[in-house]
Amino acid sequence: MATNEDQKQTESGRHQEVGHKSLLQSDALYQYILETSVYPREHEAMKELRELTAKHPWNIMTTSADEGQFLNMLLKLINAKNTMEIGVYTGYSLLATALAIPEDGKILAMDINKENYELGLPVIKKAGVAHKIDFREGPALPVLDEMVKDEKNHGSYDFIFVDADKDNYINYHQRLIDLVKVGGVIGYDNTLWNGSVVAPPDAPLRKYVRYYRDFVLELNKALAADPRIEICMLPVGDGITICRRIK
Ligand code: SAM
Ligand code: CA
Repeated sequence: MATNEDQKQTESGRHQEVGHKSLLQSDALYQYILETSVYPREHEAMKELRELTAKHPWNIMTTSADEGQFLNMLLKLINAKNTMEIGVYTGYSLLATALAIPEDGKILAMDINKENYELGLPVIKKAGVAHKIDFREGPALPVLDEMVKDEKNHGSYDFIFVDADKDNYINYHQRLIDLVKVGGVIGYDNTLWNGSVVAPPDAPLRKYVRYYRDFVLELNKALAADPRIEICMLPVGDGITICRRIK
């Protein structure tokens, strides 16, 4: 939902990143990052998808341009080839992934909503990377349950991005830890949850922020205590926790 402040920024040519797209306390600094290093290097298809998504009523869900750039870089740094994404929406992070992995790379992409994926799909096709994507419509958990039953899926993923129902992140983690390879990475998105993880109990939070906050707090504690992973929580976007499987 655009606030008066957002409106003012749009009018004055400032960034139009929607929703809580940065936890940086300085809006000017965020604008600087976008203008100096993100927008000038953004793939034209990423720009097209970002602009298309900005017109969609649920645009608050999209991954921000700076986080898209970060994911793209991370995937290349770890030479990711076999990847998974839970929570696709119109596909901005999916496209960042598809553009980063090699020609024969794969993304198993899951979302309960196919319509939104189909909104972005023409842009993904135009970018020539749709062949890397295996989209499954439906809840991710049953798919993961099936996958863990088969030993050959164990340790087979280089990178997994989780950006869906926050109340299931712990359940996802229990399964994904078997599916990601040792040395591979799982990224959990929105782990600073609009900054609400440090909000006082009586803070006036939006209903959905308040509802999911406890799940995010639980997840953060569980990840920090999990000896099977090394972690790094980054204040990019709405917070992303990078987990590297070590055993
Ligand atoms: N990564 C996306 C992007 O870059 O635009 C944003 C994903 S959005 C924050 C969360 C998505 O999770 C929604 O599209 C929603 O339909 C999906 N979702 C919610 N519950 C789900 C579930 N149980 N299984 C799979 N996807 C789910
Ligand atoms: Ca997100």
